[in-house]
Amino acid sequence: MSDEQQYDVIVVGSGGGALTGAAVAARAGLSVLVLEKTALLGGTSAYSGGACWLPGTQVQQRAGIPDSTEGARAYLDTILADPDEPATRAKVEAFLAHAPELVAQLEADEAMEFEWLPFPEYYDAPGRVPFGRSIQPTTIKRDALPPLIGELVRPPVELDRVGAPGRRTLSGGQSLIGRLAAIVVREGGILRTGHAVVDLLTRGGDARVVGVRTADGLELHARFGVLVAAGGFEGNAALRAEHGVPGAVAWSMAPRDANLGEAIRAALALGAAADFSALGWFCPGLEQPDGGGSFTLGFRSGLMVDQTGRRYANECLPYDRFGREMAKAPDRVPSWFVFDSREGGRLPAIAMPEGDPAAHLEAGTWLRAGSLDELAGLIGVPADALAATVSRFNGFCATGVDADFGRGTDEYDTFFTGGGGPDEALVPLDQPPYYAARFVLSDLGTKGGLVTDPAGRVLREDGSAIPGLYAAGNSSASMFGGVYPGPGAPLGSAMVFASLAVRDLAR
Ligand code: FAD
Repeated sequence: MSDEQQYDVIVVGSGGGALTGAAVAARAGLSVLVLEKTALLGGTSAYSGGACWLPGTQVQQRAGIPDSTEGARAYLDTILADPDEPATRAKVEAFLAHAPELVAQLEADEAMEFEWLPFPEYYDAPGRVPFGRSIQPTTIKRDALPPLIGELVRPPVELDRVGAPGRRTLSGGQSLIGRLAAIVVREGGILRTGHAVVDLLTRGGDARVVGVRTADGLELHARFGVLVAAGGFEGNAALRAEHGVPGAVAWSMAPRDANLGEAIRAALALGAAADFSALGWFCPGLEQPDGGGSFTLGFRSGLMVDQTGRRYANECLPYDRFGREMAKAPDRVPSWFVFDSREGGRLPAIAMPEGDPAAHLEAGTWLRAGSLDELAGLIGVPADALAATVSRFNGFCATGVDADFGRGTDEYDTFFTGGGGPDEALVPLDQPPYYAARFVLSDLGTKGGLVTDPAGRVLREDGSAIPGLYAAGNSSASMFGGVYPGPGAPLGSAMVFASLAVRDLAR
């Protein structure tokens, strides 16, 4: 083995968790190798809005918002299924304690800067902060990054899917990835793209993980540990089926063919414990003419019906909660989102990407009709049921009360409609022609995976840690279980546990 193939830490993947771990390790003086399977850096994290749910940090303090570690604890204690289960409690406390430390540590580097992001949390529970407690990295010009990094950051989803280059100004997840990668290389870390890790190398009686094997046959060694932060298995149909994750590979938002779960499987082969019960970070997905799904949120008008023509949830629910409603019955996938012409034939929501309305109409993923009866016929739902649904909904719009699902009563519901009362979220369907857009169950990634402890160590079934092996992000089972607390929970938790993993392995 040559020295060049030996590092202190090997990080598998290059999303937000992976690069946080790599940056923290490199700043601590460790030699770091990041192995990324695809040709670009950032994975789904680069597609993301870059919101980080990291409570109680100096960023919220600077912004003067009423956030605190205690408030976040109260919030999690209310919304998590079983916060006092000992393993969950330990992780919650580790997360809450380290989030402020991590942000202080990252912001001590001139390459990293965060700001508060107004975006409501997803549950009305004690400890919730008005307009949320999430933070995001500030934008950065691509040419302010080292040239190689600037070129390697994965473009936003709407550009990536059509093969277009990214923008000159990187925001959200792109800024996060660009900034972290810049720290890694400045501190001497090495980023290698185009290498998929398929195996973990072990040595000694305790089967310590000492390196990785890649699909192209490289064997690379790590003195202190390997951090698996290679996303979930959302792109692997067989694993999705095996673990009962609803939705479909084509509807998932991760970059195509990226997150197939090879590194998770390599850990399982070493006896790692896994918990797949949390399933995924779900969302309604606008179906695209090519069969893909687009993460959609922030509905401003219109309503969603199942295949019987009936509403089944508040369309303005936070996206994961709406996705979970969709998953409850087979006749909800696909659903039809029925809207009118008040926005000139565009979808009254934020879809990433929306796609071209004309192309949707041509492909039949959207249908248009002069009357609701005609529309019902086109989408194959009973016309009388659709008429009754719209009439009842329009009645709610007149009274300002959605007696069925309470649409408009939560701060989140009206965040995208102007921030006023329920009226703003209750907009009648009365401007023909009418449209129906086909919706599927999409996800931002799976969230079941390797069982880890508060230090990010991968555990065996008997609770012992596999020496030298760590996991974070969607490769690990989420500490939040089946709950999505607020904007940035995937990235925030990935970043914290990647950093704690590095702290542990460097000891
Ligand atoms: P990823 O970011 O997908 O990174 C995994 C990386 O590992 C990929 O680059 C992949 O190619 C690589 N990889 C996979 N297998 C291997 C292998 N065998 N060897 C080497 N490399 C491998 N979450 C938030 O917290 N905040 C937001 O604002 C937010 N906004 C979002 C907006 C959009 C449009 C989308 C689609 C998602 C959003 N999410 C957001 C969700 C979030 O982006 C993901 O859940 C999260 O980034 C997953 O992080 P990860 O590191 O686990 O996986």
